[in-house]
Amino acid sequence: MPCYRIPKTFLTIYPMRSVELKILDTTLRDGEQTPGVSLTVEQKLLIARALDSLGVDIIEAGTAIASEGDFKAIKEIANAGLNAEICSFARIKEIDIDAAADADADSVFMVAPSSDIHIKSKFRDKTREDVIEMSVKAIEYAKERGLIVEFGAEDASRADLEFVKELFRHAVDAGADRLTFADTVGVLTPERCEAIMRELSSEFKVPIAFHGHDDFGLATANTIYAVKGGAKEIHVTVNGLGERAGNAALEEVVVALEVLYGIKTRINKKRIYDTSKLVEKLTRVVIPPNKPIVGENAFTHESGIHTSAILRNSATYEPISPEMVGRKRTIVLGKHAGRASVEAIMKELGYKATPEQMKEILARIKEMGDKGKRVTDADVRTIIETVLQIKREKKVKLKGLNVVCGKDIIPTASIILEIDGKEFVGAGVGLGPVDAAINAIKEVVSEFADIELVSYHVDAITGGTDALVDVIIQLKRGDKIVTARGARTDIIMASVEAFIEGLNMLI
Ligand code: MN
Repeated sequence: MPCYRIPKTFLTIYPMRSVELKILDTTLRDGEQTPGVSLTVEQKLLIARALDSLGVDIIEAGTAIASEGDFKAIKEIANAGLNAEICSFARIKEIDIDAAADADADSVFMVAPSSDIHIKSKFRDKTREDVIEMSVKAIEYAKERGLIVEFGAEDASRADLEFVKELFRHAVDAGADRLTFADTVGVLTPERCEAIMRELSSEFKVPIAFHGHDDFGLATANTIYAVKGGAKEIHVTVNGLGERAGNAALEEVVVALEVLYGIKTRINKKRIYDTSKLVEKLTRVVIPPNKPIVGENAFTHESGIHTSAILRNSATYEPISPEMVGRKRTIVLGKHAGRASVEAIMKELGYKATPEQMKEILARIKEMGDKGKRVTDADVRTIIETVLQIKREKKVKLKGLNVVCGKDIIPTASIILEIDGKEFVGAGVGLGPVDAAINAIKEVVSEFADIELVSYHVDAITGGTDALVDVIIQLKRGDKIVTARGARTDIIMASVEAFIEGLNMLI
């Protein structure tokens, strides 16, 4: 397998090498165990297809025995003609294995407790010897049912390593095809993880996999060190979803392995961002803005000094290009907005300013920022237009809005918008009054343009129920993202105002 070529400007800590590395994605199993996440069969199929085109080797699609929905999802995914191996989670129980086989899974990730704390609290009267016996029986049965068996030791990082090895020896004798060392509660350190992987890889002929959790923020580091130690397979989830603090994040592990360690995976990195956004949308677990690789701010620049350097040479403040992971760079104007970013907006709008006007524009932006206000694109446009004395005709105007909400009724909104002088009426329902109002606008606007709401942020300026509410939203159309604000004492009106302001910038 050819090595990944690292651009000369990137720091490479270790020499490039080829490793036969498999990626098991467990977004649909461990990821779905994220508190509050529940996916329908259709949603699971959508994510599975995305993971397949992303290029993951194994998709752990759920736990066939867990529910009718999970069983159905695994069956549909297994029969969707994907390239990836489709895997079901299973305990060391015949009913679990039967469910996985009946759901047409290619493989099972079969897990046995290995630490004494897990053995005692899960099986009560059972001993280590019982766990070995049950595991052997279950593996033999799964092989009889024609499944690939990936046998995992749960909570292995808190178990007696000698017992884990004994368990693994019996597992291999019983026919296990791969072995997984699970850091179930995320207590491994990278050094220990590497040492354990080295020890296991030298002792066992079957591939060793590592399953890491992020309780101490070390999941990515541990997973990379597992590969250094000889792991041939790693478990990850998109956006690092998973129980508690989550699992190792696919995007972080893959990009770090390839860019910093020169270890190639089969992941199509250009599809990382779209996959991440799909998972965010369907799981409703919002990606923190400062999350590596996929966070909204990962390739966003605000400071004036930075932006002018970035515009000259993007490598100044970016370790990788956003395009590598299927993204685009965003320049946001803040209190540090410098001449370069203001000029970029002026150019886009087709305006020209005299040196005095430019000085005045920059001074006003700074003043706003110094007062602690977030400076949005809309603010900068307003400032530019005020200083240049340009009156902008608004294309979209709010003519009427009616929202009904309360107990035992679905929040419903109807709206009248004037677009280019013509009136349009729209209606929408939602989870709440703001959602309903925004959906009503979207219904009208969808005929004109494909607008996506990227983020929605509310601040109450002062305390109290009569406070002024400041809504800041980001809207996206194609590659273009704009930020707009609405400030009112009425949260629905503030939201609608911000949305319409954003539309005026985009349409
Ligand atoms: Mn786990």
